[in-house]
Amino acid sequence: PNARRTLIAGNWKMNGLRQSKAELRGMAAGAEALAVELLVCPPVTLLAAFAADVAGTRLMIGAQDCHPAESGAHTGDVSAEMLKDAGAVAVILGHSERRADHQEGDAIVKAKVKAAWRTGLLPIVCVGETLAEREADEAAAIVTRQVRQSVPDGASAANLVIAYEPIWAIGTGRTPTTDDVAQIHGTIRHVLAERFGGEADGIRILYGGSVKPDNAATLLATPDVDGALVGGASLKAADFLAIARAA
Ligand code: PEP
Repeated sequence: PNARRTLIAGNWKMNGLRQSKAELRGMAAGAEALAVELLVCPPVTLLAAFAADVAGTRLMIGAQDCHPAESGAHTGDVSAEMLKDAGAVAVILGHSERRADHQEGDAIVKAKVKAAWRTGLLPIVCVGETLAEREADEAAAIVTRQVRQSVPDGASAANLVIAYEPIWAIGTGRTPTTDDVAQIHGTIRHVLAERFGGEADGIRILYGGSVKPDNAATLLATPDVDGALVGGASLKAADFLAIARAA
C-alpha cells in the first residue's frame, strides 16, 4: 500500500520560447521508456501549446504558480481554473523565488493549494531554508513551519507533493549531503504524519536544488526522496531524461 511512484518534475522558470518545442518533443519521446512520471512546467505562455503537443504521450505539463481566486479583477494573474483549461495537470506553489520576489508567505501558499485542489490540479508545494537558517541549525524548524502552515487540511497521497528545496542549493551547484537530505525529508514525512496519519506514507517528497545528471542517482537513492524538482537541468531534453533515467 502507498507505494510512492517516482516523480521527476522540471521547472523552466522564466525560460523558453515557442522554439523550445524541440526540447519538449525530445522529452516526450524519451518519456515513453521511463518507469518514472515525468512533468515539465514551462512558463505560462507556452502551457497550452505544450499541453496540446504532448497529448497522448506520457509527458505531463504543469504550471509554476496560480492565483487563489477562480477569476476576477486580478490584473496579470492566472487562476488554477485557467491552468487546468490550458492543459496543466499540476502546479508548483510556494517556490522560494515566488516567496522572495513576490513576498509570498505560508498563508497565501495555502490558499493557492486550495485553489489547485478546487480544480483537480496536483500542487507541488516547495519548502526550504536559507543558508543563514541552515548555518544556524534551523533548517528542520523552518521546513516544519512551512509544511504545517502551507498545507491545508485534507491532504492525501493523491493530492499533494512536497518539494524540499534548500534555497542555497538552487542554481548554485551546491547540494546538501545525503544525510542532511534524508533528515529533512524524514522530518517532513513526520510532520505530515502528525496531521494526515497513514496518508503521509504515500505523499511524495521531492528533492530540488542543483540536481544534475551526475548527482541524480545518489540523491534519488536517498531515503524518503521520491523524486526531484529540477531547474536548470530541465531545460535540455538530454539532461532532463538522464536525470529521469537515474531514478
Ligand atoms: C528550482 O529552483 O526549482 C531548482 C531546483 O533549480 P536548480 O535545479 O537550477 O537548482
